[in-house]
Amino acid sequence: MQRRGSVSPGELETCYGCGAALPTLDGPTHRYIGASAACWVLFTKLLHGGEPPLALAPLNALLLDAYAIQHTGTPSPQAIQSVAVHALTLFGVLERGLAPDQALWLRQRVVRPQGGTRRGRFRWLTPPSFAGSLTVASIVAAPTPAARAEVAGRYVTQVWSLWAKPHLPTFTVWYTNFVVPD
Ligand SMILES: [Zn+2]
Repeated sequence: MQRRGSVSPGELETCYGCGAALPTLDGPTHRYIGASAACWVLFTKLLHGGEPPLALAPLNALLLDAYAIQHTGTPSPQAIQSVAVHALTLFGVLERGLAPDQALWLRQRVVRPQGGTRRGRFRWLTPPSFAGSLTVASIVAAPTPAARAEVAGRYVTQVWSLWAKPHLPTFTVWYTNFVVPD
């Protein structure tokens, strides 16, 4: 019997966000976060299901932010806002020294009503290449909760530094204009 097409059980699919090669999965994906179904499932299980468990660590609070800006999807108003929210949250903690548990405050702060419309506050930035970078699959593959938390911390800082390299000046302006003032 001949197999049709190229889809076969156990075949690997490359996530177009992070580049992780994971077994092809036919499942739901996020509306504007650009991840393969398999990568998205891995992430939601890790973040919301506690599976596999992560040891407590401060940077765990930023996993969502790192994942969102590693999986930017295609340009759209939602994707632009998502990158701004999550990148400026990482900026606040990793560049300006806010406590990681202020991540939620930062996320809300970025999009708070502030006179004028939120539309047009931010623009699409070309994402960096994540070739060879850590992924959620790297975190999950580590053997113990402590090892996974350690990889998760490196994942957060690596995703941020890849974005910061080309775009730090833009994030600095955005942070100054939209996060700092009252
Ligand atoms: Zn991915």
